[in-house]
Amino acid sequence: MLRPLPLILGAHESISGGIPRALERGHADGCEGIQIFSKSSSQWAARPLSDEEIEAFRKTWRGLGRPVVAIHDAYLINLASPDEDLRAKSLEAFVEEIRRADALGVRFLVMHPGSPVDRSETWGIERIAAALNEAFERTPGSSVRVLLENTAGQGAHIGWRFEHLAAIIDGVRQRRRLGVCFDTQHAFAAGYDLRTRRGYEATLREVERTVGLERVRAFHLNDSKRPLGARVDRHEHIGQGAIGELAFRLLVNDERFADVPAFLETPGQFRWNLEVLKRMRRRPRAGRG
Ligand code: ZN
Ligand code: MN
Ligand code: MN
Repeated sequence: MLRPLPLILGAHESISGGIPRALERGHADGCEGIQIFSKSSSQWAARPLSDEEIEAFRKTWRGLGRPVVAIHDAYLINLASPDEDLRAKSLEAFVEEIRRADALGVRFLVMHPGSPVDRSETWGIERIAAALNEAFERTPGSSVRVLLENTAGQGAHIGWRFEHLAAIIDGVRQRRRLGVCFDTQHAFAAGYDLRTRRGYEATLREVERTVGLERVRAFHLNDSKRPLGARVDRHEHIGQGAIGELAFRLLVNDERFADVPAFLETPGQFRWNLEVLKRMRRRPRAGRG
């Protein structure tokens, strides 16, 4: 029997020219999994997906052997906003993200927890959990798993400690609909030192202790333009930044994350970055991608 292989490697691909184009770009780059936006990431409203668009997406997807796909939610969404209008708009847009993912047949929706601006982290965490409860009540029967992404801790953004994500999950009733997306650059910028084997293992023990390793359902693989603990969100090409190669070598071969998708969000050059990562593999994924 084949043992499950660690990390499915892919990238966040552009949807310009239509969502199916993102899948084709991913295929050309050598992606085994693909992350996309389901609409322009900097706009509130989106035209609903037409039946034709959905069918075109599914056809392209089938043609490529149905690689794992994740949707990343729009950047404007802030479920922790203290402004009632923004919070309502965010909730509406977030529910729409879940519905679009279901319509496309996509199983994962990665989201940024949000920023309570001038309020406390505890206040923000409660507000995010309340919004998730409402979003889940409004989307019964959805098969989308919402993945809370750890953040770099820029400004007042919640989620730079894995304890924050654990507290959000704790406040949500339908917990089975939640998972975590681990971004390597965000973790490093938040102060989790991934540069050594010891640091890598210590970080994973923290993840295990807080949210649990089994909740990690996706990774964002990015090196860092900024030093450890800088609390700034700036991605770099794999092995070219302050994290360096070792963490990525450990992660792509880590059997605790068998078949978990990992998406590059480097400043472009996905094909090159994917080749770097694939060369780090001790066992190739040949034929199973
Ligand atoms: Zn993100
Ligand atoms: Mn990310
Ligand atoms: Mn980022």
